[in-house]
Amino acid sequence: MFEFSVTATDGKARTGVLRTGHGEVATPVFMPCGTCGAVKGVTPDQLRDTGTQIVLANAYHLMLRPGADAVAEMGGLHKMMAWGGPILTDSGGYQVFSLSSLRKISDAGVVFQSHINGDTVNLTPEKCMDVQTRLGADIIMQLDECPPADADKEQVAQAVKRSAEWAGRCKAAWERADEGQALFGIQQGGIFTDLRARSIESLVELDLPGYAVGGLSVGEGHEKMKAILEHTDGQFPRGKPRYLMGVGEPRDIIAAVACGIDMMDCVIPTRNGRNAQAFTWNGRIKLRNAAFAGDTKPLDEKCTCYTCRNFSRAVLRHYFQAGEMLAATLVTIHNLAFFSQLMSEIRQAISDGQLQSRSRKWMEQMYPVGGTDL
Ligand SMILES: [Zn+2]
Repeated sequence: MFEFSVTATDGKARTGVLRTGHGEVATPVFMPCGTCGAVKGVTPDQLRDTGTQIVLANAYHLMLRPGADAVAEMGGLHKMMAWGGPILTDSGGYQVFSLSSLRKISDAGVVFQSHINGDTVNLTPEKCMDVQTRLGADIIMQLDECPPADADKEQVAQAVKRSAEWAGRCKAAWERADEGQALFGIQQGGIFTDLRARSIESLVELDLPGYAVGGLSVGEGHEKMKAILEHTDGQFPRGKPRYLMGVGEPRDIIAAVACGIDMMDCVIPTRNGRNAQAFTWNGRIKLRNAAFAGDTKPLDEKCTCYTCRNFSRAVLRHYFQAGEMLAATLVTIHNLAFFSQLMSEIRQAISDGQLQSRSRKWMEQMYPVGGTDL
C-alpha cells in the first residue's frame, strides 16, 4: 500500500501525507540513516521517542553483509530492526560508485569489488530489485549511475541515459515481484539543468509512485544545489512525493523544502552526535570545547528531548572526555529530536503560509552573519 497527498502549499513548498503499509508519514520529513540495519547508537524505542517517522537502510551494505537472503531469514528489515514504522532502502548505486573499487560499468549493470571482503559482485537493475524485495522496505529505489562531481557534461549525459534505461528495467522487475513496495525513480543530470529536465521526463513516462533528486550533495555547495532545486517544482509531477537524497544540513533542508522537496535523508544528526556535535536553534555546539565544562544549560533551551530534560552541556562534555559510550547515544537522541522538531516547525510554517519569514528567522539564528560555530 502506498499513497501520497498534498495537504497544504506555501509558494513551492508543500505539506503532505505518505501512507504506507507500516503507517503514515507527515511531510516534509527527514529520514535518519540505519545504514547496516541499525540507527547507530539508539534503540528503536529511543528512535521513536525522538519523533522519527521513517528510517532509511542501505541496500548496498545489507546486500554485502549479512546478505539479502540472511535478512529475509531474519524476518525482513522491519523485524530485524524491531522497527514497526516505514522504511526506505536505497538501491546501492551511490555506494557502488563511492565506496567500491574496480568498478566496471556497462549497459547491463555494474560489476564491483566488495569493500568488505573483495568479492566480485554483479549488480544489475533486476538484481537490485530482487535484493530490495528480499529486504522488504516500504519504499525502494531504482539502480542509477552516479557520475563523480567533477564529471564533464558528456559523462553526465551518458549517466542520465543509462539511469533512465535502468529505471525501465527496475520497473519491469518491480511489477513482476508485486510485493506492494513503492518504487522511486532517481533523477540525475549533475549541475546541468537541461540534463536534469531530460532525466525526469523519461522517469515520469514510467509513472512511478515517487521520484528522487540524485547526484546532489556531492560537494557542489549550497548555492549550486539551490540553483538546481529551483527547477524541481516545475519538472516533477505535483501529485508524487519528491525525495532529495543525501541532504541534511539544516540550511540545505530549509532551502530544499522551499523548492518543493518532501523527503530527505542524511547521516549528519547521528554521525555528528557521535562526534560530540549538537545541533541547536542557535547553531552547532562542539561539546569538546572547554567553554562547556561549567555550562549547566541543556543543549537547547527549547528542546524537550530526553537528553535535554536530564543532562547539562557540562555533563555531556564530561562523558565525551571520559570516553563514556552514553555520550554518543545522548547527543544522537538530541540531534534526531532536533531534526524532528525542525521538520515539525517547517510543516507548521507551511500550513500557516509563513515559511519564508520563519525560515529567514531560523537562518539568522542558526547561521549568524560573520558568526562561527561554538
Ligand atoms: Zn534535546
